[in-house]
Amino acid sequence: MKGISVKPGPRLSERTGIGLGGRALAEVHLEDVQACEKLPALLSSLGGTPVMFGAGSNIIAADEDLPLTLVSLRPSRKEPLFGKTGEKILVRAEASMPLPALLRAAAARGLGGLEGLAGIPGSVGGAVAMNAGSFGTETGSLLHSLTLFSPSFGMLETEADKAVFSYRNGSFAGLPFGGAYGGGQNRDWLLVLAATFALVERGREEVREKMRACYARKKSSQPLAAKSAGCVFKNPSPDQPAGYLLEQAGMKGKGAGGMRFSTLHANFLTNEGNGSYAAARDLMEEAVAAVEKTYGLLLEKEVRVWA
Ligand SMILES: Cc1cc2nc3c(=O)[nH]c(=O)nc-3n(C[C@H](O)[C@H](O)[C@H](O)COP(=O)(O)OP(=O)(O)OC[C@H]3O[C@@H](n4cnc5c(N)ncnc54)[C@H](O)[C@@H]3O)c2cc1C
Repeated sequence: MKGISVKPGPRLSERTGIGLGGRALAEVHLEDVQACEKLPALLSSLGGTPVMFGAGSNIIAADEDLPLTLVSLRPSRKEPLFGKTGEKILVRAEASMPLPALLRAAAARGLGGLEGLAGIPGSVGGAVAMNAGSFGTETGSLLHSLTLFSPSFGMLETEADKAVFSYRNGSFAGLPFGGAYGGGQNRDWLLVLAATFALVERGREEVREKMRACYARKKSSQPLAAKSAGCVFKNPSPDQPAGYLLEQAGMKGKGAGGMRFSTLHANFLTNEGNGSYAAARDLMEEAVAAVEKTYGLLLEKEVRVWA
């Protein structure tokens, strides 16, 4: 099919940063965004639940084969497009662009706003879907507009303030970004095709220096090189970081079955090479119980669990 290719049975352990997960039914690569109109019929014919897939840096998937069909985007251009509105510079990136590449492009032009996101892996689409954030910067608040596709409304260019962003979550017209995986009846799904950010002109060195500082802070406190899915749990509140609660509840460094809560940051569950979803699930359950017992607080997952 022109603009779309299909790969049967991708292994999620090879497609996710944490290196866990069985096979999905298929992976559909959208090579030309104009072909997205063909996706609904193709996905129906392939069966399974459609889920949008970025770089897999926030996903923990079950060990067994899963009835999922991944939809991922192939980049057509390497660089973002630049424009202007009033005082702001508009930067339009394809959803498949790696977030670090977008930050590099912004820094090279001396455009400020994204600096706090330095060190966050993944794609631009994934950052929008998750409203990725760090050091007080959140993706949703930097957006000017979005190009979206859903079977119910087709391809659409919308102002970003029509989307709803909350803590590590985003939705548009009542649909969560990514897909309604979870066993419900809703077969609708919402794909981010491109995102336009509104940034401000600053000195190139100023932007680079701020990015370097954010990255250094992250690197010193988080296991960036380990196989992980980022922070497992959301912070119950800004003054109750999940990492601190987990540490106090005795989970820092705790491991079993090839998985371990990092000794650097207790909210990062790392795969030591031979981990399994079963071990990850058991450790996550133990962590929730430990924090509930110590603090009476129920931790909520930040990672997307596909099980
Ligand atoms: C070491 C490390 C550090 C991290 N630090 C941070 C941090 O500081 N802050 C933070 O917020 N996150 C952090 N993360 C988590 C992760 O990097 C972000 O959530 C990232 O934005 C996910 O992007 P992705 O492309 O990998 O998405 P994926 O993991 O592929 O997908 C995540 C979700 O987004 C949906 N999705 C992906 N692409 C699209 C699309 N084009 N359209 C619609 N939905 C889509 C998926 O369906 C899924 O629900 C970290 C992860 C790691 C491994």
